[in-house]
Amino acid sequence: MNHPDQFSGMKILVLGLAKSGFAAATMLHEAGAKVVVNDASPEEGNQEAHLLREKGIEVICGGHPPQILDDGFDLLVKNPGIPYTNTVIEKAEQRGIPIWTEVELAYRISEAPIIAVTGSNGKTTTTTLLYHILNIGGKKPLIAGNIGTVATSVAQEAHADQLIVMEVSSFQLAGTEAFQPNIAIWTNLYDAHLDYHGSPYAYAKAKANITKNQTADDYLIYNADQPELYEHINSSNATMVPFSLSGRSESGISADEQFIYWMGEPYVDRAMIKLPGKHNLENILAATAAAILVDCDKETVESVLSSFTGVRHRMQFVKEIKGRKFYNDSKATNTLATKSALSSFEVPTILIAGGLDRGHSFEELREHMDHVKSVIAVGETAERFQEFASSCGISQISVAETMDDAIQQAYGQSAVGDIILLSPACASWDQYKNFEQRGDAFIDAVMKL
Ligand code: ADP
Repeated sequence: MNHPDQFSGMKILVLGLAKSGFAAATMLHEAGAKVVVNDASPEEGNQEAHLLREKGIEVICGGHPPQILDDGFDLLVKNPGIPYTNTVIEKAEQRGIPIWTEVELAYRISEAPIIAVTGSNGKTTTTTLLYHILNIGGKKPLIAGNIGTVATSVAQEAHADQLIVMEVSSFQLAGTEAFQPNIAIWTNLYDAHLDYHGSPYAYAKAKANITKNQTADDYLIYNADQPELYEHINSSNATMVPFSLSGRSESGISADEQFIYWMGEPYVDRAMIKLPGKHNLENILAATAAAILVDCDKETVESVLSSFTGVRHRMQFVKEIKGRKFYNDSKATNTLATKSALSSFEVPTILIAGGLDRGHSFEELREHMDHVKSVIAVGETAERFQEFASSCGISQISVAETMDDAIQQAYGQSAVGDIILLSPACASWDQYKNFEQRGDAFIDAVMKL
């Protein structure tokens, strides 16, 4: 898809700066486009705006004036976080201006094949694990997307003999047109980001963009244990590679208690896998299937599976103090993630949960609360989470204002052999800048003990 002149002479509006907007504007400017950048944050202290101006790019800061489009643009590249209800976006849609996110842009300029990973949960873990396997396997992979590295910048550097492993969110996939990954992974589908997409259907439809342009030469690795996914992929033309935890299967990749099977044949002994949790086994199946499809050998897969223990803030084992094990699962920003975390343990667990209140229900956690001996509720949802815990029959429930307080209380309530788990089931923005900061606060508080 890499045509050096494809953007030359085009007039392109880049909406939203941050890392991805900055990279997109720079790349398009260098490719000969006439770029205008529009960012909502004020001029003052906007370092990126300043740097772009130095390159000769026009930057308009301090809001999104709808009349900006009166200049006439051929293309709009938006930051994935900007909602479609934004007036500039609405106006661009009315005028039929194509609206892309950086994922589309990256695809258009990449020389390297792309493996794209989406799903409501498990994207980062699957992407990171796959990256490690490919790296050890000598495939010279590059990692892109939500995990820090901007897809456009990575795609610019990538050579044809490399592979880009790209984590793609529904926000990013909503802004795709020709995007066609050679391998797509769809880990699972669960109601999320309804505030942004408007409905569960619109959310799933955005995710389904991962496969909409794929052909039989491409692969779609998907969760066969989730029938709710089927209606969104049944029109895909990709070669289907199902993954399943429901026992040995003749197709795709599957697992029973003892083995992982590839096309029905035992492939890896599960005893060697280090990463805990049933949900992580799904991520392992998806990543392993992709590794097999790009010809990684079994020894490589085995060596990574026997050493990979997970990604920071995702069921991260922090420390054991006097027989109590502390786990940081700050990335669990929805109930599905917390459900997975709870089902990874059978021993008595003290759960620290709560955060930004999006009005979502915690009901889905109910069947996994049996081994939760106490709950420490935090954040905006503290009261609602208390009510939920109480309705599950948990008697020891309290509220903590700070993470230090939560850890002190948790430790005070714990006994030898207990798990103390931060798995909030909510986003972090009520009290923290992001889930990383929340997880770091947890780790700091544990270290202070
Ligand atoms: P994402 O990047 O999609 O947010 P992560 O790999 O960062 O996913 O994991 C986020 C949280 O979701 C983890 O803390 C874990 O508890 C949960 N999780 C991870 N993988 C899965 C899965 N396959 N199914 C359900 N929950 C999962």
